[in-house]
Parts: sequence; structure tokens; C-alpha cells
Amino acid sequence: MKKAVPDRIARLRAGLAESDLSGLVVSAPSNIFYLSGFTGSSGALLITAERALLFSDFRYRLQSREQAPDFEFVEVERDLFQRVGRVSADTCAGRLGYESAHLTCELLGHLTEGLQSRELVAATGLVEDFRAIKSPDEIVHIRAAAALADQALDHMISLLRPGATERDIALEGEYFMRRAGADAVAFDLIVASGPRSALPHAGTSTRELQPGDLVVIDIGAAVDGYCSDMTRTFAVQTATEQARQIYEIAHRAQRAAAAAVQAGAICGEVDAVARTIIDEADFGDCFGHGLGHGVGVDVHEAPHLRKGDDTRLAAGNVVTVEPGIYLPDIGGVRLEDLLVVQADGAETLTASAMPAELPVV
Ligand code: ZN
Ligand code: ZN
Repeated sequence: MKKAVPDRIARLRAGLAESDLSGLVVSAPSNIFYLSGFTGSSGALLITAERALLFSDFRYRLQSREQAPDFEFVEVERDLFQRVGRVSADTCAGRLGYESAHLTCELLGHLTEGLQSRELVAATGLVEDFRAIKSPDEIVHIRAAAALADQALDHMISLLRPGATERDIALEGEYFMRRAGADAVAFDLIVASGPRSALPHAGTSTRELQPGDLVVIDIGAAVDGYCSDMTRTFAVQTATEQARQIYEIAHRAQRAAAAAVQAGAICGEVDAVARTIIDEADFGDCFGHGLGHGVGVDVHEAPHLRKGDDTRLAAGNVVTVEPGIYLPDIGGVRLEDLLVVQADGAETLTASAMPAELPVV
């Protein structure tokens, strides 16, 4: 991590010059971590052509030195963004960028006050664009996070039986990953059973599994600041013909779209590979979300595999491929793998089996 920081700052500086910015105020925690290594709960960066500053408070005086040795630490007692504005006004002439997608209106007000009349420019996506392409070091962390989720899934499958609650199964998965070395879960784990499996982002409830339920398990771990993400679907003890059918279609869509992932492929076209298969099976209305997303410091980041997106995939992108079919009040299926984009294809980081037929447990 540490030796990567100077490279990232250098790349950002080149990006600032191209955007005609004299500096950037970074406020998104994931961008702060990516650029500096700092993980504190409160802080901001100011990066200019000459200087790299980390603003935070007393609580992080020592931590910042350890995590972000490439940054000058500025200790702020209160009104952090006003101070960032004042220092920016003194440090850099010209246009100053800020992350409009991440700064609240209130904090933007503080920043503007501190800056006085200096020109402030919305500069969202600058850091995110760099983050989309992972270095080999970053992929090591994502691979480790994916491996923990694979192991946790095996454990969770062993708990799938009538009477078990979604919440207990999710908690067991979380505990398993934490004990096996995850810093945290990448997101609130999803265990959605029966009719709840038709809710793409269901979370968990106290619902008890019943024979014949579809169960969607969507889990990810965070390791060294990097996330993983994967989904599998199971049937409890028995499965209807319809459940088998939607599983088989989702599986075919997943395989075909995953095979289309490679450097140079257009995100919207990869999405269309899966969407066409589901449309042609007459379930197009039941697949209402994008095919996939980038994964890294955040579990959802660039690039996005979605309808109409003309971004081209690049080697080093890490993306999910996760088609789903959701039948309201009945149940749903989603199958999600995590892939590293390569020049001539992709490597699948998810190792858990994805059988062609609905697994009944
Ligand atoms: Zn997921
Ligand atoms: Zn996902």
C-alpha cells in the first residue's frame, strides 16, 4: 500500500493538470484511503502540484503519521472544511476542484467560506476513474476477500434447513468471515428466502426457511480495505419447475455475459448479452437492475455493466457479473461472480461452484 501512494498522487497531479485544476479537495473516505492510506473517520485531503496535506483532528495525530507518511498532517479542532478552504486559498492559485458527489451542502458552505472568492469546480470521478483499474497488489487483497466469502458460503450452505432464520444464517456467515481474517463484511450480507428472494436488495429478516424456498445468498468480505462480492441461489429440500427454469435461464445469462468480459468490451454490450437471453425467455421485466459493477475499496464503484453504458472495459478492472430474475411474491434467483478483466478474457476470482441446475440443499 505505502509505496503505491506516491504513484497515485503523481497520477492525480497529472489528471489535475489535464483538467486545468490547481488542486483537489478529496472528501470521500474511500478516495482518501486510496490516495493516502488513511482510514480515520473524519478527514480531508488537499492535493496540489507541490503539496499533499491531510486534515483531521487530534484523535488521528499519530495514526495519520503511520498510515499516511507521504502527507503533511494538519490538525484541526473544528470546522475542518473551513480550514481546508483557508489553507487552499493560501496554497494554490487558480481553480480548486472538490468532489461534488461526496461533499454535503453544509460542508461545501464551510469550504466556500474558507476559500473566500477562489473559484471552486465540481470535479467528481477524477479519483474514481483511477481506482477502476487495479494494480496487482490491489487484486491480491480482493482475491483474499473473495476466498473468505467462498469459505463462508460453504459454512452457510451447511445451515440451510427448514426452521433456520435468514438472520442467523447471515450472522454465521459474518462471524465466519471475521474469524477467518476479514476486517469487516463488505456490506450487510443478504440472505433472502421464499418470497423475499424476489427483492434484489432484501437484507435479512427473522423469516424461517421453509421447504421449497428459493434462498439468495449475497455476501462479501473486506480485507486490507478491499471488498469482494458474490451471490448464489439455492432451493430448500425441493424446487418447483418454475424455480428450476428461472435458475437455468439466469445461469445461462451469467455464463454468456462472463464469457463476453474482456478488455475493450463495451459495458452496455456485456450487459446486453445477459439481458437478451433473459428477454428471449420472456423474463425481461423481471431483471430490472444492471448486470454488474466494479468492486474495490467500495463494493460498488466504476465501471458499471449496465444498459447503454458505452465505457470500455480495461485490463485490471474488477467487475461483478450478476444477472437475476425476480418473480414478485414467488421468489428470485441471482448468480454473481467476481472477475478480473484481462486483455483476452477474464479471470474469475469467485471459486464457489455455480452448478447449471438449481442446487437443492
Ligand atoms: Zn452481491
Ligand atoms: Zn454485486
